[in-house]
Amino acid sequence: MDTLQKITALCKRRGFVFPSSEIYGGWEAAYDFGSLGVEVLNKLRRLWWSEFVRKRSDVAGLDGAIISHPRVWEASGHTELFADVMVEDTVTNRRYRADHLIDLIEDGMKPEEVDEVIKKNNIKSPDGYPLSKARYFNQLVEVQVGTLEDSKSKAYLRGETCQPIFYNYALVKDSMRMKIPFGIAQIGKAFRNEIKVGPFFFRTREFEQMELEMFISPKDSQKYFDELKSISKLWVESLGVNPEKLRFREQSPKEKAHYNKIAHDLEYEFPYGWKEFQGIHYRTDWDLKRHGEYSNTDFTYTDEETGEKFIPHIAEYSIGLSRLLYVLLFDAYTEEEGRVVLKLDPKVAPYDAAVFPLVKNKEDLVVKARDVYQNLINTGLNVAWDDRGNIGKRYYSQDEIGTPKCITIDYDTLKDDTVTVRDRDTMKQERVKISDLSRMVKL
Ligand code: ATP
Repeated sequence: MDTLQKITALCKRRGFVFPSSEIYGGWEAAYDFGSLGVEVLNKLRRLWWSEFVRKRSDVAGLDGAIISHPRVWEASGHTELFADVMVEDTVTNRRYRADHLIDLIEDGMKPEEVDEVIKKNNIKSPDGYPLSKARYFNQLVEVQVGTLEDSKSKAYLRGETCQPIFYNYALVKDSMRMKIPFGIAQIGKAFRNEIKVGPFFFRTREFEQMELEMFISPKDSQKYFDELKSISKLWVESLGVNPEKLRFREQSPKEKAHYNKIAHDLEYEFPYGWKEFQGIHYRTDWDLKRHGEYSNTDFTYTDEETGEKFIPHIAEYSIGLSRLLYVLLFDAYTEEEGRVVLKLDPKVAPYDAAVFPLVKNKEDLVVKARDVYQNLINTGLNVAWDDRGNIGKRYYSQDEIGTPKCITIDYDTLKDDTVTVRDRDTMKQERVKISDLSRMVKL
């Protein structure tokens, strides 16, 4: 089994990630986050929000609608330009994203260019059959909305979370009394009709993004672009991700989305290669210019000090929430000394600690352990309770899900109010006073 298979199996067995609708045979590219997965996602959402919204007086939050006016997606250019080039196996009818099929095809090539590469190099499908002519495939997911069958109208599930940020720009600016430069941040779901999905939940059709859009003067674009690059990478490193497995890569002109002038991807080195999990983009004044044109709104901003007038430009920081979890799992997965350990930073581990009574059939031990457990929970920690099997098995089980500290209540606890605390990474055990526990676990 390779690491991907091992992580996939662990995620299902221990309740991080389930294949969606499994009892109906599964639903391609959709995943449900189980009880432990949702704990990590909630922690990530909280940490990100605290870092990029709460701690910054120049950033305001937003939670926009998933289905907005369809004109939003015309103005943004998505109905026309948000497309990948696709080819189809003429025998099996399997569809492929052209740039994923072969290295010679670059993301952003036109269908004619793809056809030429296929012809020149006599490229066949992975099953060895001829390929169809290449064509564009729009990634927006369409929905029908309305109550009466004949008056339903076509709308779109949002293809990126940032569009509500753009069309609400003036409302946020005025209600929060912001001046440029300032940012609007949002966490939420986005939907894309991806041709090629996977591996596992790396690329899915429904996913969540955490985005910060900085509205700036064009003369400050380099400064904010560089700042977003630096603070976003530092934040990922603060989650414990190995810095040696992180790098920025600049997207080639063809690869870039229609709204980007400059795009740098932060990539992680997986066992199967470097892959993107966040982007820093300079979107110029594309967004507010287009929304201005399509909605007849004047977004011209006047700098109070210099009198300079301009349409605000945008520097964007966009990171996929579930893709970040995917990176964290790969970075944390460790096999050593006959055990599997998820070496997640305690900040993002599903449980902060686990509490065990040494044995489960001694009432005074169980009562004491329940007391310790409840007190830790009351301090805001997420704590697991385990009284099954022997202590060794419980350690094994907690290591596998990344619980940083295991706390055992034994006979000495009843005498002197101390417990054994075992560290996940060093496996060292120490005797600790119950009154010191919550401080120790919170570290
Ligand atoms: P990719 O090339 O991987 O499809 P992208 O360049 O289209 O991604 P962006 O539009 O820049 O991605 O989105 C920003 C971030 O959103 C990505 O770095 C990624 O973390 C996340 N993301 C984008 N598409 C998906 C998806 N289909 N599934 C999961 N996460 C995604």
